[in-house]
Amino acid sequence: MANRIRVSVKAYILTLYPQSGGSARSGGAVQGQNLRALAIGLAVPSFWSRAEISQAFDEANRIWIREADIEFTPVEISERDEVVPADENGMWIHFVNHLSPGARAVGVGFVYDLPSNEGGWGGGHVAVLSGNKARSGLSGFAGNLLAHELGHVLTDDPNHILAGGDASNLMHGSRNPRVANAGILNQQQISIARTRALNL
Ligand SMILES: [Zn+2]
Repeated sequence: MANRIRVSVKAYILTLYPQSGGSARSGGAVQGQNLRALAIGLAVPSFWSRAEISQAFDEANRIWIREADIEFTPVEISERDEVVPADENGMWIHFVNHLSPGARAVGVGFVYDLPSNEGGWGGGHVAVLSGNKARSGLSGFAGNLLAHELGHVLTDDPNHILAGGDASNLMHGSRNPRVANAGILNQQQISIARTRALNL
């Protein structure tokens, strides 16, 4: 294939603390889901180990190198605390504003749980992964989920349109943790991802 493109990663073992003020309970209609522990004022430790994170990147890189000759490296892992809102939208906006590492890199947060059905989020220069969901799946599921969320960063396709409903596509919207996803990318996704990886 073409030349290998490398994208560096700042990975964070992320402990979440609840934002005081309880905006989620201020009476207005809150859209999306809440992370219950945070909503009632509890901190949420990450529980991800460095070894688990390295393993997830090994699997995500296996997929991205095979499909698009893109490699996420080097991966620098550190621990970090963030004070976040409990609701889906507020938390995602906080992550985008605080975990973006700047040009030519992606920030990836590894948390225990998220108010997300997918088990992760990706977009802009940021991805976040729920360990709770990742561990519920087959061996390799965490890496496959990580590859998917990094795919949201590289294809800028939040609604899984480019996957065209193909269940074997890495970016297919609905995934069962107990059914292996083949992690395929189509030509359009590869071309978009390679262009964006060069221009992050
Ligand atoms: Zn997705």
